Amino acid sequence: MPELTPLLQDFLKTPVHSHFMDGDFVSSNSDETFPVINPATEEIIAQVSLGSMEDVDKAVVSAKKAFQHDSPWRKMLPDDRGKILYKLAEKIEENKESLAQLVTLENGKLLRDAKSSDVGGAAKTFRYYAGWCTKIEGETIDLSQPQKGGKQNFAFTRREPIGVVAAIVPWNFPLSVASWKLAPALAAGCTVVLKPSEETPLSVLLLAQLAMEAGMPSGVFNIVLGDGKTTGAALTAHPHISKVTFTGSTHTGKIIGKSAMDNVTGISLELGGKSPAIVYDDPIDFSAVAKGVAAGIFRNQGQVCVAGSRVYIHKKVFDKVLADICHEAEKIKIGNGFDETADMGPLVSASHRDKVCHYIDQGISDGASLVSGGRKIYDKGYYLQPTVFSATDNELAIIREEIFGPVLVAVPFDDLKHAIQKANDSKLGLAATVWTKDISKAIKTINRLEAGVVYVNSPVRSDPNLPLGGYKQSGIGRELGKTGIYNYTTLKSVNIVY
Ligand code: NDP
Repeated sequence: MPELTPLLQDFLKTPVHSHFMDGDFVSSNSDETFPVINPATEEIIAQVSLGSMEDVDKAVVSAKKAFQHDSPWRKMLPDDRGKILYKLAEKIEENKESLAQLVTLENGKLLRDAKSSDVGGAAKTFRYYAGWCTKIEGETIDLSQPQKGGKQNFAFTRREPIGVVAAIVPWNFPLSVASWKLAPALAAGCTVVLKPSEETPLSVLLLAQLAMEAGMPSGVFNIVLGDGKTTGAALTAHPHISKVTFTGSTHTGKIIGKSAMDNVTGISLELGGKSPAIVYDDPIDFSAVAKGVAAGIFRNQGQVCVAGSRVYIHKKVFDKVLADICHEAEKIKIGNGFDETADMGPLVSASHRDKVCHYIDQGISDGASLVSGGRKIYDKGYYLQPTVFSATDNELAIIREEIFGPVLVAVPFDDLKHAIQKANDSKLGLAATVWTKDISKAIKTINRLEAGVVYVNSPVRSDPNLPLGGYKQSGIGRELGKTGIYNYTTLKSVNIVY
């Protein structure tokens, strides 16, 4: 393990990490705390306050105050807002090592992935949306109805910031998924209360510190720490929230959607996936395809919403491609995220690893054949082997339900129609990959897949410029890209009669 940066050593000396509101770290109303555990060693690395209803209320009041019309944030020119977001992107990059080390400590992922996906991804997202601050525009509109009394008119729309945003994020990419919500919401001129997952609450606290250094006015970005059922639920049900933006499981998304609807609060949901990879039989480099399919499921220990967890392989090449995928899986070196030679770290928690192991047992008892991996390894840490099943029955739980771990199920298919029918036979529809050199087959498949994101000849990788979101129960709305900014604006239609 490399030496922790001085900034991080200092940060970890804090006895109890507390909420961030009104520009400062603020102790909890209650004395309740919870531990943050390093998944690689099972050691407690920090104690964190458990937010009560009162703490949530204080954070929302802070965000509401910062959103008032005469507040520095509301009066700020879009160009100046953009400068703060750009500066924050630079601060994130300057502090890459500290932030990445903290993400690896709390989440377990490889340090190099924390650097590229979490820290690099967050910096790119803030920079991308910094540019959007000056490009939020309404339209002028010629009306169909004449004005009464022969008068003239001038009609237009204004895009205004929607208000106080509640952002609830999961543990798999604690910094980058938070930035997917913070950056566009702040670019639009909103203020935010963020609740990170109780598994990974630390890295966003460092981010808050950097936001202040970048010049963010007090109260614009707030964090409440705590669990989902108390703190998260209080936040999404708060009457002064104008928009809830959530990334997490479909199960929790449904609960949050219902609670937001009680106040008719706007909502965007980025939910679970069970994404198919379709491998056709044209003469492509099948070893390279196997590498791509394996990377698509085993990256970040399979804890990726767009992970390709079902692979449909043409029957003519099924055995060859499956053998190549297993070869890739067996080459993966499992170890502490700080070990530079490791390819895969531990899962995020004991309970999550147990859930994944339960699915593996169920796959075996349901009759799927376990062709590679499937076992826990090492005495300490939540490590699990990359696991590959082969099956023919599309009804198995391991094919239908999101496992969110390093588990892949391979299924043969006969032709394009059969592949698409199997791929679309799911209540989820987040992402898909297609592996072929035949352009017409690729386009036919893209057009018929019920998935919000489709990549051809590559595993899915998120990019701030490209919208992300799901069909069916994988979500409501899209985040990132140009559409991402509109999640946080509301339209005002104006008609001036003269
Ligand atoms: P959960 O749905 O369990 O939790 C997500 C967040 O919601 C956490 O911060 C959690 O808090 C909070 N939460 C839980 N219950 C409530 C509630 N009743 N009210 C308000 N907040 C609540 O998901 P995981 O953290 O386990 O993350 C994994 C899931 O996220 C997977 O299903 C994955 O597919 C999905 N995901 C989707 C992505 C997408 O873009 N579509 C991207 C990344 C992940 P706490 O953890 O503290 O209890």
